[in-house]
Amino acid sequence: MKTMTCRALGGPCDLEHHGESADDVINAQDQHLKEAEKAGDATHQEARDAMKGRWRHPKKSLGWYRDTKAAFAALPDDPA
Ligand SMILES: [Zn+2]
Repeated sequence: MKTMTCRALGGPCDLEHHGESADDVINAQDQHLKEAEKAGDATHQEARDAMKGRWRHPKKSLGWYRDTKAAFAALPDDPA
């Protein structure tokens, strides 16, 4: 299990996401951004729009996924 923050995933806050894979934390961040948007949180709007754009243009976004997966792989495991 590893921890990646909203900020590390392109967002504005330090909320921590925990997951076994980069996909887990990316999905958690996606959910977090959706909730922020629903709550009218303007600070997360830019990151939310960027994430929406990634789903729409997956090929263009491969670099971001690769970087995020590499960053996740480089993280230490959470202490048990
Ligand atoms: Zn956040």
